[in-house]
Amino acid sequence: MTYHNLPDNPYLLLTPGPLSTSKAVKAAMLRDWCTWDDDYNLHVVQEIRHRLVQMATTSGPDRYTSVLMQGSGTFGVESVLGSSVPPDGKLLIIANGAYGTRMVQIAKALHIPHLVYDLPETNIPNESEVERLLDENPDITHLSVVHCETTTGILNPVKEIVALAKERGVVSIVDAMSSFGGIPLDVDEWQIDFLISSANKCVQGVPGFSFIVANRERLLQCEGQARSLSLDLFGQWSAMEKGKGKWRFTSPTHVVHAFLQALLELEEEGGVEKRFQRYVANQRALVAGMRRICMEPLLPDSLHSPIITAFVSPSSGNYSFIDFYNKLKENGFVIYPGKVTEVDTFRIGNIGEVYPADMERLVEVIERVRFW
Ligand SMILES: *Cc1c(COP(=O)(O)O)cnc(C)c1O
Repeated sequence: MTYHNLPDNPYLLLTPGPLSTSKAVKAAMLRDWCTWDDDYNLHVVQEIRHRLVQMATTSGPDRYTSVLMQGSGTFGVESVLGSSVPPDGKLLIIANGAYGTRMVQIAKALHIPHLVYDLPETNIPNESEVERLLDENPDITHLSVVHCETTTGILNPVKEIVALAKERGVVSIVDAMSSFGGIPLDVDEWQIDFLISSANKCVQGVPGFSFIVANRERLLQCEGQARSLSLDLFGQWSAMEKGKGKWRFTSPTHVVHAFLQALLELEEEGGVEKRFQRYVANQRALVAGMRRICMEPLLPDSLHSPIITAFVSPSSGNYSFIDFYNKLKENGFVIYPGKVTEVDTFRIGNIGEVYPADMERLVEVIERVRFW
């Protein structure tokens, strides 16, 4: 393969990031940019930071601010966990999937005192259990939870859980990686202190950095607490504030430009609410079509997000994910393997530059290539 005159993508990515992006998002990366120049810092980075806060809350920049952080989403989560929990603090982690479990791995690696509310991947956290854990462990200072657990596509009741934490003065951290920009929320109304997401999910940019929308007061308390130099959340924020958009270390300039274009396209689409409606339409078209050809989602409809859908793999001995994957790829669609531990599944993303008609085409292809 050569990159000269590269043709359009031969397939759609029905994956939860990287995902299919628009032509203009890709075109924004066709120039080289200096990190040091005002055109970049003042007009691109600051514009992005401002737009992220506006998207996250109507309360605005007095109460909330944003930080961009190099690396994939996990780097953003690690930066928040490692910077916000003080040495004498304790973190309650709610885990009902791979991304909740990843927060546990981070806490272990960074030696952050923590407690885990571990539950099956097909269950949402029980509010009275969260309440009990908080009441029985008054040394808990921070709580972290995933909004849309991309493992299954389950949507956790984050607003209710955070409210229980806040009633007890506990700082709230939400991994909204795969929901921010695609599901309406307001960080101030939901009392979220730190929200983490990344460039390559519902905003529909390309991978390369994560971002954090933080309550200003809580962010200031992170000063001097980071367990890492490069993932120091306060350090990164403070450099961006002082340098008016300057990153501490080399920034992913091309990705940042692509992200601004993605934010403009989100606005053009009509904002988060409109994008949410499109994702809901994608997911409904997908599930209705799949049910028609006797493929069942793993979760009941009531627990579902419109972001990604896990389907139970066919039980026939002829089925293999890799053969299925290859057949779909030949026909223009790339899907995702399952991540659930107890049931054999495959996943189909509903996000990105993808529309209900694409989902209908996908179902037709599945019906046609079915070999089991
Ligand atoms: C994508 C994602 C992440 C980040 O994963 P990376 O592999 O670092 O991009 C974290 N949490 C959730 C819920 C995600 O969907």
